Amino acid sequence: MKMTGHYLDNSATTMPSDAAREAINNALEVWGNPSSVHSLGQNAAALLRECRASVAKTFGMPKFTADRLIFTSCGTESNAIAILGCAHSKKRDPLNPGTVILSAGEHSSVEKCAAQLEAEGYTAVRVPTVGGVLDLDYLKEAVENAQSPVIVAAFMLVNNETGALYDVKKAAQIVKAKYPDALVHCDAVQGYMKTRFTPYTLGVDTLTVSAHKIHSIRGAGALFISAEAVKRKNIVTIAPGGGQESGLRSGTENTVSIAAFAAAATDSFGHYAENRAKVEELRAYLDSSLAERCPTVRQNRPSGEFVPNICSIVVSEVRSETMLNYLSSREVYVSAGSACSAHSKKKSSALEAFGVSPDSADSTLRVSLSYMNTADDIDALVDGLAAGIATLQKKR
Ligand code: PLP
Repeated sequence: MKMTGHYLDNSATTMPSDAAREAINNALEVWGNPSSVHSLGQNAAALLRECRASVAKTFGMPKFTADRLIFTSCGTESNAIAILGCAHSKKRDPLNPGTVILSAGEHSSVEKCAAQLEAEGYTAVRVPTVGGVLDLDYLKEAVENAQSPVIVAAFMLVNNETGALYDVKKAAQIVKAKYPDALVHCDAVQGYMKTRFTPYTLGVDTLTVSAHKIHSIRGAGALFISAEAVKRKNIVTIAPGGGQESGLRSGTENTVSIAAFAAAATDSFGHYAENRAKVEELRAYLDSSLAERCPTVRQNRPSGEFVPNICSIVVSEVRSETMLNYLSSREVYVSAGSACSAHSKKKSSALEAFGVSPDSADSTLRVSLSYMNTADDIDALVDGLAAGIATLQKKR
């Protein structure tokens, strides 16, 4: 299947792969309810078991394990189950319920959980991420000086706007050293299939991924929950109901979307090295083409590690929305900051946390690549940027 136009917004969503499309068609034939006892239902339950095993493999989960992998509807829901489900899992002192730690510039699905907990009386501490580097010294001090016990800590693996790769492993160790019973959560939505990791290598209790970011369709996400977190009763359900997904995510499972997710995950996992190499090559081409043909374009390039698929650029001559629409008219699709925050008029908190000035943030575009892209897509983008800068700069 060929992509429409020049789609360079793969961190917002991705085109479903052939593997995902085939799985959808097959799953449509297995339409029973996995909770039904009759054979139609049991066929769907068997499909669900297969999908869980496939996704668990990509998480490095052993075949027989007390760790859990639950299916949800998306990354947003997985984050809320982990963070709110943990905060509400025990009776807390209403006057001083506890401390929540998170990195500055988290995706809104994490940031808004923290804000909700703050409104309930929890203390939230946001660890700076200037230059795309998680400030581990600040974290150490925050953990040492917390006024109330740290209940939950959430660190994203890859920032959705800058591509910065955070040292989640060290951050988890710092929190666990003082608060071994705290829940350490990782939103790995933008890291899944872009960098190699497992919840075990990161040392986290819970970890979120989302299907539609890895060439599947929307409607499925997953949440890893360690056996330890289960044993400590670290999470309670935030949406009670039929008790599906270990009682943590009630609601009849979306088997079609989950089947597509499992197929896309298996496909991406099997081709990880070649997909990553292709994206690295595309990124190098993008960097050199920009330097050569659009010398005034700057990058919000993390000073530490980053994934090659996300490139945050500043076209200072033109407001991002104007350039985005111009590029769109040439069938080149990128986003201004993160698509998920496009509904709010607020400036991007991730760019602010990175240290980007409000003026530059106003002219920032996110280009996000996939192994499905080609050099042709990069050429179309750079042609569009060069032409856009020449024609639009006066309208700023
Ligand atoms: N976390 C991060 C880092 C994201 O980039 C996104 C979406 O862009 C999400 C969570 C939310 O995922 P979903 O769209 O599946 O709810």
